[in-house]
Amino acid sequence: MSHSRRQPLPNPLTVPERALPDLPLRQALRFEPGRPLADFDPAATPGYPGRGKSDAAELTDLIRPALDQWQERLFADGKERGSAANSVLVVLQGLDTAGKGGIVRHVFGLFDPQGLRLASFKQPTPKELSHHFLWRIRRQLPEPGLIGVFDRSHYEDVLVVRVDQLVPADQLDRHYDEINRFEAELVDQGTRLIKCFLNVSPEEQKRRLLARLTDPAKWWKYSTNDVKVRAKWPAYQEAYQVALDRCDQPAAPWYVIPSDRKWYRNWAVAMLLLEELDDLAPTWPAPDYDVAAELARVRSS
Ligand code: AMP
Ligand code: MG
Repeated sequence: MSHSRRQPLPNPLTVPERALPDLPLRQALRFEPGRPLADFDPAATPGYPGRGKSDAAELTDLIRPALDQWQERLFADGKERGSAANSVLVVLQGLDTAGKGGIVRHVFGLFDPQGLRLASFKQPTPKELSHHFLWRIRRQLPEPGLIGVFDRSHYEDVLVVRVDQLVPADQLDRHYDEINRFEAELVDQGTRLIKCFLNVSPEEQKRRLLARLTDPAKWWKYSTNDVKVRAKWPAYQEAYQVALDRCDQPAAPWYVIPSDRKWYRNWAVAMLLLEELDDLAPTWPAPDYDVAAELARVRSS
């Protein structure tokens, strides 16, 4: 895939060296098929250039202007080129408390809401169940020029559906190939996919569930189902392993985000997005009018 620059960037976006990871996160966090998920430490902080929690907000602030401007260019490009423009889709998957909601709030809160398309996928409604599992997903894809965020996704159809055996085994088996074809199609149409597995440890999940139950302001986040899902931890690890092994493609990569430390998790997803946008490098659209002539017209008006 080539992304030619149609015009030189008027003001190159730079991020201070000290805010950048020594190794691009797209390499440092990249899953490789066959690699056991148990090898990934949920409390690790790969590539983090600072001291820790104490400077995470500051380092995030340093990349915010670049994120903001890339997003605006992407959006402008979408207005200009319509279906020929690119989009970005961030898929967030992880067990309860892993931080899907936290990322939506803290990472996507950095962006201009008009350039975002957020969707969350719950237990399918009867209507959704009457369609193919990708039907509801297609309806929520980001239009060209937008950054889409999926809080859960089509992967639920190989995760909870596998663990709870919600469909016959042969149908489940087909889901993986259907997902791969679907994602390849998306990429062909110009969508950049960033698939994040938020890797939280069982100990940290327990702390977070307890925190939800001991703070009335967090009761709404708790579901009595969470403890039932937690009891199936090994089955979910296996389901994630198979999903990542079978549905990792060069153009639709999986990243494993260590998620025991919220500050690292949020910074890492923001940085992954920055790297992707940097690579995509959308340009400001050229005007479809004569700038000098319009200047003269406005001045004399
Ligand atoms: P939450 O995201 O915590 O509000 O919970 C949403 C619930 O919907 C989770 O228990 C998911 O496993 C469940 N869910 C999402 N997609 C599906 C699906 N395709 N089939 C069955 N359950 C699903
Ligand atoms: Mg929940």
